[in-house]
Amino acid sequence: MPTGGGKSLCYQIPALLFDGLTVVVSPLISLMKDQVEQLESSGVKAVCLNSSIPFHEYQQNVDLIKQGEVKLLYLAPETLLKPRTQTLLSEINVDCLTIDEAHCISEWGHDFRPEYRQISGLRSSRTIGKDAVCLALTATATPRVQRDIRKNLELDDSGTIIASFDRKNLFLEIAEKQVPFEQTLHFLDQHRGQSGIIYCFSRRQVDELTMDLADQGYSVRPYHAGLSETERTENQEAFIRDDADIMVATIAFGMGINKPDVRFVIHYDLPQNIESYYQQIGRAGRDGLRSDCLLLFGYSDIGKINYFINQKSPEEQKVARAHLDSLLHFVESTDCRRIPLMDYFGETYQDDGCDMCDNCVNEDSEKQDLTIPAQKFLSCIVRTGELFGSNHLIDVLRGSQAQKVLKHSHDHLSTYGIGRDLSKRQWVRLSRQLIHEGYVSQDPEYGSLKLESAATDILKGEKKIFGSVGEKKVGKSGRQSGSSFQQDLDYDDTLFELLRKKRKYLADGEQLPPYAIFPDATLMEMAAYFPQSEESLLHIYGVGAAKQEKYGSRFLKLIRDYCDEYGIKERPKRVRTRPVRKSGRRRHHQVGDSFNKGQSIEELTRQFSVKPGTIIQHLEKYSLEGNPLRMDGITEALTLSQEQQDLVLKVFEKEGNEMLRPAYDALDESVSYDELRLMRLYQRISESD
Ligand SMILES: [Zn+2]
Repeated sequence: MPTGGGKSLCYQIPALLFDGLTVVVSPLISLMKDQVEQLESSGVKAVCLNSSIPFHEYQQNVDLIKQGEVKLLYLAPETLLKPRTQTLLSEINVDCLTIDEAHCISEWGHDFRPEYRQISGLRSSRTIGKDAVCLALTATATPRVQRDIRKNLELDDSGTIIASFDRKNLFLEIAEKQVPFEQTLHFLDQHRGQSGIIYCFSRRQVDELTMDLADQGYSVRPYHAGLSETERTENQEAFIRDDADIMVATIAFGMGINKPDVRFVIHYDLPQNIESYYQQIGRAGRDGLRSDCLLLFGYSDIGKINYFINQKSPEEQKVARAHLDSLLHFVESTDCRRIPLMDYFGETYQDDGCDMCDNCVNEDSEKQDLTIPAQKFLSCIVRTGELFGSNHLIDVLRGSQAQKVLKHSHDHLSTYGIGRDLSKRQWVRLSRQLIHEGYVSQDPEYGSLKLESAATDILKGEKKIFGSVGEKKVGKSGRQSGSSFQQDLDYDDTLFELLRKKRKYLADGEQLPPYAIFPDATLMEMAAYFPQSEESLLHIYGVGAAKQEKYGSRFLKLIRDYCDEYGIKERPKRVRTRPVRKSGRRRHHQVGDSFNKGQSIEELTRQFSVKPGTIIQHLEKYSLEGNPLRMDGITEALTLSQEQQDLVLKVFEKEGNEMLRPAYDALDESVSYDELRLMRLYQRISESD
C-alpha cells in the first residue's frame, strides 16, 4: 500500500474490536511516538516500549499492559526480542501481532534489519499470542521482497493484499525550469500559510534557497546532513508543530515524518529516479485532502545527472541510465501523468484521465502541427553527419555565428538559419519530443543525435507530428480543480484561520502537533457548517466522542462568538453525493468501437496521437466492462514469438496477472509491459470465447 494509503488503520480498527492486545513492531521511534499521541487524543489507550523511554514511564506502561488497560502496544524489534518483554507478553492475551515496515525483514529490501528476521522465531515458537493474527505491512515491496516476507513469516499467498499505488488527492505538475526562484515564489504565493517541503539537490542549494525565501518573508527552515543533530531535530520539530511553514531539504529529510497536512512538495531539482520522486511526493496529503506536487524540470539537469552517471562502474551505469530513462519518459509524457507513473509500478491506470495532473487539466490546449519544424530539425541532423548534440543543431538552425558553427563551416549548409521562427527553448522542447517519441536517439555519453528509422516517414512527409512547443505556466491549475471533497466545500476563510490559531494554541499547551488535535478537514467543515451545538459538532468530520469532550467546548465557543458577530446561522450538514461525471462518450469506448470496426492498434495510436500502451490500456478497460474485442486485432499487434507467448502464459499462471509487475520481474524484464498487457487481453478474450 502506498505511503499515506492508510496502513495504520488496517490494524488500529481491528485493535479496537479485539478483546486482547495488538502488538505493533515498528523500527522508527519517532513514528511510534506520533502514533501513540494521535491514538491517545482520539481516546484510544496506546503505549510504546523502547529504549528512549525513561525508566519510571517504562514501568508505568508495563503495569498498564498487565492490567489489560492498553489496546495497542508499539515496540521496537530490539525490545520485542528481550526476554523480559517476551515474559510479559506470554502472560497476557495478545490477539494481533503487526509488523510495520515489513520490508525490513528482507535482505532484498532497501532497509534490512537483522532483528526483524528473528520475529518469525517468536511466532513459530508461539511465545506470543498462540492464536494471534499476524499482519505484515509495507509501502515498498518489490515482488521479491514480498516473497521474502511471506516466507519468513510463514504467511501464505491467499492473505496477500496489494493496494493501488495511486494517490488520487495529489495534483501532479511538471513545469520547465526557467527562472526557478520566480517560479517557486509564484507557486508559494498560492499556498500561503500552508505546510510544504521543497527538495533540492545539494546542501548549498538548500541553504541558499532557505535564505532567499526568508528574505521574502516566508517562514522557512533548512534540513540537510550538514547541520548538527540538534539543529535538524529543532527544525523538524518546528515544521511538525506548524511553527515553520516550509522545510527546504535534501533527500535526507522525510523518513519518519508523518505530518498529515503537508499541502505541497516542490522538486526544485530533478529527483534521482521515479521511486524516490514517488516516495517524496508521498509525504504530501496524507490526510486525504488535495495537495500539490510541482517538479521543476530543467534540461540542463539531465546533463548534470549524466555527468554523475559517467563516474560510476559500467554495471551501475546501466541501472542508473535505465532509471533516468524511466524518469524522462514520465517527465516528458503528454498523457495523463498517472499512466507512466502507475505503469512503472506495474499497475495499469484504468481511468480516462485523472483531472488531477497538468496534462489532464491542459488537455484541451491545442496541439500544433509540428511536422515542418520537425523536418527542419531532422534534416539538420543529417546534414551535420549525425555527430552533434541539440545545442549545436539549434545554433545552426537559428543561424548563429558561434565559433563552433563557423569552424565546421555549418553556416554554408542549406539548413543554416532556416529555424529563426522558433526560440532556442522551443527548439529544445521539439528535440526532446523527437527523442521521446523514438524518431531520434541520443548518444548517452556524447549527447550526439542520430536518426531512427521512424524519422524517414516524417522527412518524406508521409507522417505528421503533433505537439506543443509553447511554454507551460506554473500553477495554472490553481485551486479550482480537483477531486477531493474540500474543493466544493465553501468555507469561511476568516473563521478557518481563527480555528487554526485556536488549534495551535491548544496544541502548544499540550505539547502536541496541531494535527493531533483536529485535522484541517475538520476545521474546514466547522468553517463551512458553523455548528452551534454539541450535537451538530458531532456530525463534523473527525469529531468523535473523545475529542468532543476534550476540545468541543473551546471550538464551539469560538464558532458561536464568530457567528454572533457576523450574524451567521448554522448550516445543516447533509450527506454529500458524488458529482456525476460529465456525460459524453468516453475515450475507451471510442477506441474500443473503432478497433472492433477494423482499425489496428497502430492506426489508433496515430489517430489519437498517443502511445500504443495508452491504446492497449483503453482496450483493456473496454474489455473489462464486458465488451467483446476482435481477437485478430490483438494477435496482429503481438510481436512475441510463439515460444515467448507460451512462456508469458505460464508465468501468468504462476504469478497471476492482476498486477503485471510480478510477471515482468519473473521474466527478467525481457517482455515489455505493453506486450504483457496484450497477452493478458489475449488470455481474457480466449477464456471468454
Ligand atoms: Zn492525469
